[in-house]
Amino acid sequence: MSQATQELHNVGFVASPFPTTEPTAAHWTPPLAAPRDRDLCTDCGISRTANPERCARACQFVKPDYAALEKRVHGRERNPQDDELFFGPYTAMYQAALIHERPGAQWTGITTRIAERLLETQAVDAVLTVAPDPQDSWRPVPVLVTDPAALRECRGMRMGYAPLLALLEPALAQGYTRLAVIAVPCQVHALRVLEPELGFERLEVIGIPCSDNTTTAHFHHFLSLLDPHPEQITYLEFRADYQVELRFTDGQKRTIPFLQLPLSTLSPHFFPLPCKTCVDYTNSLADITVGYMGGRGEQWLLVRNTKGQALLQQVDGELRKKDPSSEGKRHTAVRGFIQNTQRAAGGLPLRSTPKWIRPLVAWLMPKIGPKGLEFARARVEMKAAESVLHLRRARPNRVAQMIPPHLWTILKPYPIEANPSESQKIALD
Ligand SMILES: Cc1cc2nc3c(=O)[nH]c(=O)nc-3n(C[C@H](O)[C@H](O)[C@H](O)COP(=O)(O)OP(=O)(O)OC[C@H]3O[C@@H](n4cnc5c(N)ncnc54)[C@H](O)[C@@H]3O)c2cc1C
Ligand code: SF4
Ligand code: SF4
Repeated sequence: MSQATQELHNVGFVASPFPTTEPTAAHWTPPLAAPRDRDLCTDCGISRTANPERCARACQFVKPDYAALEKRVHGRERNPQDDELFFGPYTAMYQAALIHERPGAQWTGITTRIAERLLETQAVDAVLTVAPDPQDSWRPVPVLVTDPAALRECRGMRMGYAPLLALLEPALAQGYTRLAVIAVPCQVHALRVLEPELGFERLEVIGIPCSDNTTTAHFHHFLSLLDPHPEQITYLEFRADYQVELRFTDGQKRTIPFLQLPLSTLSPHFFPLPCKTCVDYTNSLADITVGYMGGRGEQWLLVRNTKGQALLQQVDGELRKKDPSSEGKRHTAVRGFIQNTQRAAGGLPLRSTPKWIRPLVAWLMPKIGPKGLEFARARVEMKAAESVLHLRRARPNRVAQMIPPHLWTILKPYPIEANPSESQKIALD
């Protein structure tokens, strides 16, 4: 059994059954098959379908071809001469917020609001997304939602893997042929590869960026290091101002500067290998990406094609939005991160800053660090470097196939160029 599959078993994905309610007007999670044993797997759900061998074609961790998929989904590849190199194809980009922020949302709730509008206007039959497990609100459970009011339960972020795509076949069997999917990048990759053969009449893909996901069990351990009452933490976010924000059941909030997080006691395997090596931070194959990285404290929208434009129009009148801005210089921070990642040799890239000076640096970072789009570029570069370095250590024979050519271009300013065996794919292209 691979390490990834072992982790899924350890956290109870196989042992504890999902809710098995019959379809209702609100939402539905049918029983799921067990996952197949796969190396580098985030249990997106394809291995639980009737045709699990499709993993070999669909998986982001086997041989992704972003250029071909971008061309099919958006009509063209990313332009490597501008910000599309980092963020993927887009036709418009905004800093935005819902004027009436939704309770329980991770940011202001634009993601769920778009999906609600699709159900309200009957543009789709169902929305495929994740909800909190009734026994553990941090654990994601895939659900098919047909009632816009029920989507409010799905707001917010959960840590862990949800076999979302295992519900594609039940959705079709139920007659939901017009579907909206809210998903993280590794799920969207598999969905897009298989889209032409799935038989949906309509498919709307609302993507969220994703990095540093981990198993729900690991995440509970992390929460226990942050606060003496981890069971009372209802919200956690790594904000663009270098602070982690925590919210509690009694409504209190607390922030912790990144540099003061108690990371040194975490296991080097805290982040599973797939999440250390995934290559599409900004969800470049979605019709619209709704994140926060380039949003300077608000949300960050990347409209990627005409379908994404129509999705944005569903909520446009409810938004405050403007052009995103950019400030500062990222290269020194990215270089420092790369050095720390190399020094950590597969573990967590902990800073070498002496303990006594950390509060001062933590105070300075939001003032002098890159902001807005420069922050987003910095995070994309860090993630790209991390993926190459971790893959080189743990699965060197996968680098040539798993690292797309544009990632090497992103990394050009840094000392991580592809060696001849790794650049095979670039040469082929
Ligand atoms: C593990 C993880 C890491 C992320 N890292 C970043 C990041 O580095 N930068 C960034 O800009 N954004 C990141 N995001 C996205 C961010 O947290 C918000 O989801 C996004 O900004 C949308 O906010 P919102 O208020 O519009 O979302 P909401 O309206 O609150 O909706 C959030 C949606 O995300 C879905 N969701 C929650 N948890 C999961 C999960 N584990 N798997 C699949 N779907 C899930 C929910 O079901 C819901 O549909 C991450 C999300 C996750 C799950
Ligand atoms: S396609 Fe999905 S289920 Fe299959 S190996 Fe990849 S992540 Fe796992
Ligand atoms: S960090 Fe990457 S591999 Fe992990 S869940 Fe997010 S998109 Fe998937």
